[in-house]
Parts: sequence; structure tokens; C-alpha cells
Amino acid sequence: MEDKDEDTDTFDPNLPEEGPSAPPPGWLDSVTGYEEHTGGDGTDQICPPPPDFVPKPENDKNASVPNVMVPTVSEDVARDALLQFVGKKWTYSSKPAKNLIFKELKPFTVYRYRLETFTESRSSAWESEPHTGQCVDGPQNGVSPPPWNVQVSYPPKFTNAVQKVRVPHSSFLKPCHRCHGNGKVRCTHCRGRGLTRCMFCHGSGHSRNRRCTTCHGRGRKRCVSCHGKGYKGCLTCNGYRNLVHFIQLTVTWCETDVFSLSHNAFWQVYPIEGFPDQDICYASKGAIQNHLLKYSAVSRILQQRQMIELVPLTHVYYAYSGKDYDYFVFGRENKVHTTIYPSSCSIL
Ligand SMILES: [Zn+2]
Ligand SMILES: [Zn+2]
Ligand SMILES: [Zn+2]
Repeated sequence: MEDKDEDTDTFDPNLPEEGPSAPPPGWLDSVTGYEEHTGGDGTDQICPPPPDFVPKPENDKNASVPNVMVPTVSEDVARDALLQFVGKKWTYSSKPAKNLIFKELKPFTVYRYRLETFTESRSSAWESEPHTGQCVDGPQNGVSPPPWNVQVSYPPKFTNAVQKVRVPHSSFLKPCHRCHGNGKVRCTHCRGRGLTRCMFCHGSGHSRNRRCTTCHGRGRKRCVSCHGKGYKGCLTCNGYRNLVHFIQLTVTWCETDVFSLSHNAFWQVYPIEGFPDQDICYASKGAIQNHLLKYSAVSRILQQRQMIELVPLTHVYYAYSGKDYDYFVFGRENKVHTTIYPSSCSIL
């Protein structure tokens, strides 16, 4: 079926061409304390924290060194642990574990140190929304607070969270930069005509001396992009003509862990497969401090807490079939680490 308005030229000289999707430089007013924002392209600016902020140390009741009894591993426990370990390895025979002769069980303790840092960082960017009649909280209501004075509701400590807040008194109203306040823009596909040239007959209306069936001999077709209207609704203001611009503050809370071990010679000499503390990092105290210095340049350290865990370890020396061997029993679950185990072939 043909539409009656198929041939109507919709060109309106008053309709604007589509403008940029982001406000051009200089379009937005300057807000005191946020002058570094020049363009409205939504680029986030990191707000460095004021230098006068000193985090309060957490008064942890457990800060004193606890008097922990390190459980000792008996010969029976050491043998059971080895039997369990051997049972999981199908190439190992349980015979040596059952018949070995213990020579010495040497217990010692390694310390796992954990440092948790809870930081807050803030960044700001221009945002906008269509003006649908809402109140505009602009500088007439007062001066905008600096980034680190904007009130936010804090999450529980040591939880990761992000909060977006509108900076008070930073809003103002502007005609939409994309449609110049018209709410609609000229269709670029048909240049506002509502019609495009027929692609089948190249605009002639006929091909091979026959009337073009696609355009019914008109040589033109209704524009598919604007449905023949010659214009499109503005996608930036949704047709509301005006935009409210404001500075949006993004507050990010982040918890980071740093681990280190004292007495770490064992771990370096015997790299362990499947050890529960895979993510242990051998950070020295100096490295931790450097890490924190790095944080404090772009964020506030709200709180730090530290923990020391004791990891019991027993070095077991034994003899089997006239040869000496050793293995380790470690952790509260009595896991086993060994590099050499008497071969099953030699004893069968
Ligand atoms: Zn045609
Ligand atoms: Zn069009
Ligand atoms: Zn618009």
C-alpha cells in the first residue's frame, strides 16, 4: 500500500542539524572548587584528598600477642597424616607409611601476617539529565562544598562499595546542546526531506523501459531513518529541550589485603603445591609502607587492621628400609608436604 504523504517534502529550514553528543568546551559554567572540569564529556577527575587527614588507629582488643598453645604432633598423628597423604596419590604405596621408624619430630611455628587497608577515593565529572520540571539546585543556593566535604552515607568498614552523589549547588539549566533547544533535529539520512532516492531505479522511476515497482515510478522512497518525517527526536534531552547539568561525585570504598610471612625460609626452600595460603605475598615491611604511600596520594586511608596467624609446622625425620627420609606436617588440618617418599617398587 502507498502512503498519501509519500511524495511530500518535509524540509523545515528552522530545524537544526544534530549537534555534538557532549557539550562543547566552554559550554558549561565553572563551579568553584571544581574548575578543572572544562568539558562535559563525562571524564572523571580524581579528587586528591586534603593532606590534613590522619586515620585513627583501631583500638583492637586483640592487639596484644596472644598466648597460643601450638598443638604438638605425636607420632600417631604424623603417621595418620602421611597415610592420608599417600592415600590420595595412587602411585604411592602405603606400606612405607605404615612401617617407617620415626627418628625425630621437630615442631616449629611460622607466622602469617595480614594487613588490611580500607580506603576511600573520590572523583567527579559533569553529568546531565533532561529538564522535566525538577528543581535546579544551583549557585543561587550557596557555594558548592569541596569534594571531600560532600556528605555521603558510609558503608560498613572493610566492605567494597561505590556511591554516586550530586554535588550540592552545582546544577544549572541550559538549552540542549545537541538540538539547540528544539527537542528534535533534522534527519541526516534524508537531509530533512523525508524522502530518499530509490536505490533500484537510481531515482529515474523506471528500469529497462518499465516502471520501477519499488518506488512505483516516483524515483523516491520514504526515508526509513525518520519514517518520512524529516526530523528525529533528540536523544540527549529526550525532546524536553533543556538539560540540567551538575557535577556528580563518585565515592569508592575499597578493601585491600597484604600478606607476608616471617620465618619464611621454609617456604622458599620448599615451594608447596596446594598449600592453603596460595596468595601469600612475600612483601617486606618497607614494601607495605610504599604501598600505603601510593594509596594515600589518591585516596584516604580510613582504617587499617592487622592480624597475625600462627601456622604450626612439624618437620618429621624417619628411616625406612635402611634409608633416611623426612616430611612436613603443617596447619591445623595436619597437611603433609614431602619431596621424596620411599618408592613402592623397591619394597614389593
Ligand atoms: Zn525506483
Ligand atoms: Zn529522514
Ligand atoms: Zn536535545
